[in-house]
Amino acid sequence: MPNHPTIYIGDDTLAELIGYCQTRDLRSFVLVADRNTHAVLGGRVEQALANQGWDVLTALLQGEEVVADARSVMQVMYALDRAPRTFLAVGSGTITDIARFVSHRAGREFISLPTAPSVDGYTSIGAPMVLDGAKITVYCHAPLGVFADLPTLCAAPRVMIAAGFGDMLAKLTSVADWELGALVWDEPFDPEIARRSRDAAWACAHSIDAIAAAEPAGVRALIEGLIESGLCILDFGETRPASGAEHHMSHLWEMKLLREGRPAVLHGAKVGIGVVLSLQRFDAVRRMSRGEAETRLARSRLPDREAEIRGIGRAFVGMADQLAEVQKPFLDMTEAEHIALKDRVLAHWDDIERISAGLPSAAEMTGWLRKVGGPVAGREVGLSDEEIALGVRWGHYYRNRFTVAKLSQMLGMP
Ligand SMILES: [Zn+2]
Repeated sequence: MPNHPTIYIGDDTLAELIGYCQTRDLRSFVLVADRNTHAVLGGRVEQALANQGWDVLTALLQGEEVVADARSVMQVMYALDRAPRTFLAVGSGTITDIARFVSHRAGREFISLPTAPSVDGYTSIGAPMVLDGAKITVYCHAPLGVFADLPTLCAAPRVMIAAGFGDMLAKLTSVADWELGALVWDEPFDPEIARRSRDAAWACAHSIDAIAAAEPAGVRALIEGLIESGLCILDFGETRPASGAEHHMSHLWEMKLLREGRPAVLHGAKVGIGVVLSLQRFDAVRRMSRGEAETRLARSRLPDREAEIRGIGRAFVGMADQLAEVQKPFLDMTEAEHIALKDRVLAHWDDIERISAGLPSAAEMTGWLRKVGGPVAGREVGLSDEEIALGVRWGHYYRNRFTVAKLSQMLGMP
């Protein structure tokens, strides 16, 4: 397993950070923040390090909405000199990804100082970046450490706490999808990592009252869960423990918004809506008898390759060729392979029922997300019913994974 970053969560962040830098002999820094995150935390970090007599440059990202794109990268590069500096990412997901990318390409390390418990990507090695209007994940590196200042996280905007809660509860559906993939699609699986990811999500579900009230105990549980989820991704080497059909839908919506120049929606907000939609499918599976599944599977035909690729092209504009390649194992199945897949689904029907039964219902999840103030329907974040339907029908083609979306398609309930 890879080395884990040093993790600190508490009220004594600046002293902990200084102690860490002393033991590591780190004395030169470039702090990356925007106006907001500089105001809530960055300024204090800058001052504390300067008080040690250490050398701190600040790259202050400009603009109302910071995007992990060429403009932001240029702003950080412009603030840099040639000194060997450790990057300090003071912000939520986007600022962390910008610092992750530039520090990696500059051959330097970075330390993450989250300002909101909004996403599980702090400990990630991948940086989602926008290049020429398209979103790509660039493999970079994990931070040396994550120093989470609890009072700052508790004071984060409620929508960001709700987004973190949505991204966290997504581990329930993503692990269930992962188990489906392991059962019928031969996907690599690690039961211990699956357990850790699921336990982290349930711990947050059980802390819902404290999270909804942004109490320190609740926000601590949330950031612990998000960090643990990030470590599960780090340990497994890719995102299966933390990302299933709910994330695939979210990626589709995100790219559509980006393409059309519309305002971005917080990752965890879109993912939370995806979780409810995935749970509706698991609800349907849970209600389905083996006999009904058998009848439905008997009716299931091979996917119509050309029609599906046309649909993929409408849903993921400009990506049809790339995704046709990714989906070869599904779209290019032979008749015999398709029958074998249906047989595997039926042979594992008891397991599939058990996986579905271990999940909260869509109605329960809706109540939880509402309680923390998160959106539960597309229109709350500016996505039309047609766009939501697009995600439900086509989102799964984003990855070669067997999720509840592909299962539903085979069962004739897309
Ligand atoms: Zn996520």
